[in-house]
Amino acid sequence: MPNLNIQNIRRDFPQLHRVVYNRPLVYLDSGNTSLKPQIVIDAVNQINSLETANIHRGTHYLSEVATKKYEDARLKVKNFINANQLSEVIFTKGTTEAINLVAQTFGRAMIGAGDEIVLTQMEHHSNIVPWQMLAQEKGVVLKVVPVNDDGELDLGAFHQLLSKNTKLVCVTHVSNALGTVNPLSEIIDASHAVGARVLVDGAQAVPHLKVDVQALNCDFYVFSSHKLCGPTGVGVLYGKKEVLERMPPYQGGGDMIAQVTFEQSTYAELPHKFEAGTPNIAGVIGFGAALDYVDALDWEAVEHHENDLLAYGTEQLALVKGLRLIGTAAKKCSVLSFVITGVHPHDIGSIVDRQGVAIRAGHLCAQPIVNRFGVPALARASLAFYNTKEEIDSLVNALNRVVEVMGV
Ligand code: PLP
Repeated sequence: MPNLNIQNIRRDFPQLHRVVYNRPLVYLDSGNTSLKPQIVIDAVNQINSLETANIHRGTHYLSEVATKKYEDARLKVKNFINANQLSEVIFTKGTTEAINLVAQTFGRAMIGAGDEIVLTQMEHHSNIVPWQMLAQEKGVVLKVVPVNDDGELDLGAFHQLLSKNTKLVCVTHVSNALGTVNPLSEIIDASHAVGARVLVDGAQAVPHLKVDVQALNCDFYVFSSHKLCGPTGVGVLYGKKEVLERMPPYQGGGDMIAQVTFEQSTYAELPHKFEAGTPNIAGVIGFGAALDYVDALDWEAVEHHENDLLAYGTEQLALVKGLRLIGTAAKKCSVLSFVITGVHPHDIGSIVDRQGVAIRAGHLCAQPIVNRFGVPALARASLAFYNTKEEIDSLVNALNRVVEVMGV
């Protein structure tokens, strides 16, 4: 039976031991951003206090140290997602920038008027708006896969939307609003069969599921460091080398060039072609430390523990008066979204906050799926491997207080 030593793990996260409003913090907002273990904090401090230097262009000792650590982080990402080559790992400032990069380069160069992009109704705004901007500029047609009442993709509709005009399919691996885990193999195989490329938004998946981009056979996979125990301002675009090589650069500037004259410039090889300017050096190195941390966990045990928490939370929340869970897919992870009859989710968020319980409330940057369920907003508790059943009990107690205060 896989097991995690949660109490030891919790000691690694300083923020789990702080107090808010005179109560121990119960952090159930890791889907928004995860907490950082001490080794990540130390790695960032080390760079900022003793190892500050720019990368790739220095000739001194500290520049070599920083460059080595930065490139080691790339290797850690490659191994973490099982990319085939180092050059397939591009650092960005987050999932959002990674998707915009693909839209602005692959999209503008390879998708034209009348071509189609298939999205799903459960996408985060960052996997909708960049495609709308492209559609407006180029006359591309967006098609949307609907979602059923449990929060699962309507796969029949998906297959019907695919055609020889489909150039790209953009799908989230795990929905941030519903927790649904999407059937990627079926989606990717069917998309490839019509000649379309597939971009997977892995922002909510990498903290919970083991991801193997070669086994998935996706063309692009994007995610953020800050949801995976790393610093903010760092993300990853994985792309198949043969696709990335054919894409024009994203931004122009230092580090992304081979030769520059006023007549013309030539570009650096992958991955540097897509990394113009001084990147978030300390952030990337901190992310490397985060990957060391999560890699050392027993992932089978992580999945087991998180599934256990999710099942327990689902059962306990159902006992709260007037509460309706939104997102009841057969395959889901880490997210408990809900509404309570007669109470605005913002009020839920504020009342539980006063009891030391941090959750998210609002449209969760996924307005189309919130609208789909006919509610103005959602309250969302999102779980990580460092959470416990006792914390879910605290959430339930806090929600019972909401019911009492609001007279549900
Ligand atoms: N995609 C999903 C599914 C998300 O949950 C998020 C963030 O919540 C994003 C994309 C955007 O990530 P970032 O803000 O780190 O760019």
